[in-house]
Amino acid sequence: MKREFTDILIIGAGPSGMVSAGYLQQHNVQLKVVEKQRFPRFSIGESLIPRCMDNFAEAGLLETIDKHGFQRKFGARFIKNELVGEFDFSQKFGEGWDWTWQVPRADFDNILAEEIASRGVDIAFETEVIAADFTKENPVITIQHKNGEQTEIEAKFVIDSSGFGRLLPRLLDLEKPSKLESHSSIFTHIKETNRPDGKEGELITFEVLETEVWFWYIPFSNGKTSLGFVAPTAWFDQFDEDPKVAFNQMISKLNYYNGRFDDYEPEFIPKKIKHIAKSVKSLYGKNFALTGNSAEFLDPVFSSGVSFATESGLKAAKLALKELNGANVDWQAEYEDYMNEGIAVFSSYVKDWYNGDLQDIFFHRSPNPEFKKQICAVLAGYVWNKENPFVKKHKRIVGSVAKFINL
Ligand SMILES: Cc1cc2nc3c(=O)[nH]c(=O)nc-3n(C[C@H](O)[C@H](O)[C@H](O)COP(=O)(O)OP(=O)(O)OC[C@H]3O[C@@H](n4cnc5c(N)ncnc54)[C@H](O)[C@@H]3O)c2cc1C
Repeated sequence: MKREFTDILIIGAGPSGMVSAGYLQQHNVQLKVVEKQRFPRFSIGESLIPRCMDNFAEAGLLETIDKHGFQRKFGARFIKNELVGEFDFSQKFGEGWDWTWQVPRADFDNILAEEIASRGVDIAFETEVIAADFTKENPVITIQHKNGEQTEIEAKFVIDSSGFGRLLPRLLDLEKPSKLESHSSIFTHIKETNRPDGKEGELITFEVLETEVWFWYIPFSNGKTSLGFVAPTAWFDQFDEDPKVAFNQMISKLNYYNGRFDDYEPEFIPKKIKHIAKSVKSLYGKNFALTGNSAEFLDPVFSSGVSFATESGLKAAKLALKELNGANVDWQAEYEDYMNEGIAVFSSYVKDWYNGDLQDIFFHRSPNPEFKKQICAVLAGYVWNKENPFVKKHKRIVGSVAKFINL
């Protein structure tokens, strides 16, 4: 079999892999990216949060993204019956970006990949990693090209950014059940030809149908809009088997958005993803690191996926470079413990969302302005800032505040 050599092999050209690649390319590292699909390809995960702007900036990708005129996102709105909780990222605790984008991912991911390729990085599209051997001094990865031919790639380090493909977790028996409840999702796009002007047609909104059931409205600058539902997996059983019929049945349950989407045909048959949350036994091993969805995925409710994917992609790239340069890397402390800190904060908020405590705070008629700023910083993705009491005391603070305001 043909054999190639590279210093770093990245599996997957999603945002996680492209942020790793952007950082490493800027440091003149020899690298190769292998991507199973042909781009542009659909992906879900369309609402970004401000923290990912720091990561795109460090990977040198921000200016390229900015040129494409994606819909800017300055905050988010949550609606439950007549109650509204709105967050403005400029009104958050601490430092950080005040805005980000909401993006159709097919276009967005394609722009990132084209930019990285234009800088001379070798991205092999329609090429799938099918095996990995980590027993030798250097990992040997087997890839299969579109024509069925195979090549072995010997790399000094492998960054697995294969998303829900979860390549190394599957091949190396690293999968672990998530501690979060089992939720599923169904979603599609519409061409919203009669979109209201201003905020109503721009602001990302989450409508809560029941404490554990919510709907997203994400308008894009290209005139299309993403609509989706997230709920406990069993909730979906009450609807028709046909996803298009089922989606319409769910849409008819909306309150705030009732009637708004009745005249639109879905752009594609609504897609369903079951059992969203994913976890692993370890985020790294000898000569490899897992990043993005290949590592951990919690829940879409706070739009943290791409931020986590780019944070881990950037961190793994920095540490891999350090190791390549002969320095000792403590992957447990410098990677896994660091990433787990952020994961733990978001996990607390996901649990507090679905048990209703966070919703009690969001929908309170006279919210405490300081608490709101501190929660807003968490929603913006600044979950490593321990000066924020809502980060530092994440395990208990939401429950305590909810109890207090409900008295
Ligand atoms: C219902 C739902 C809603 C979501 N909403 C949001 C949101 O609003 N905001 C947000 O930030 N996140 C959201 N997410 C999460 C978001 O989708 C992911 O966190 C994000 O896309 C992860 O990026 P990634 O780079 O890790 O993986 P991906 O973007 O999935 O990229 C992985 C790439 O790896 C490739 N690949 C897979 N296997 C192989 C292989 N064997 N060989 C070669 N290539 C391979 C795939 O083709 C793919 O292109 C949502 C997730 C779900 C399920």
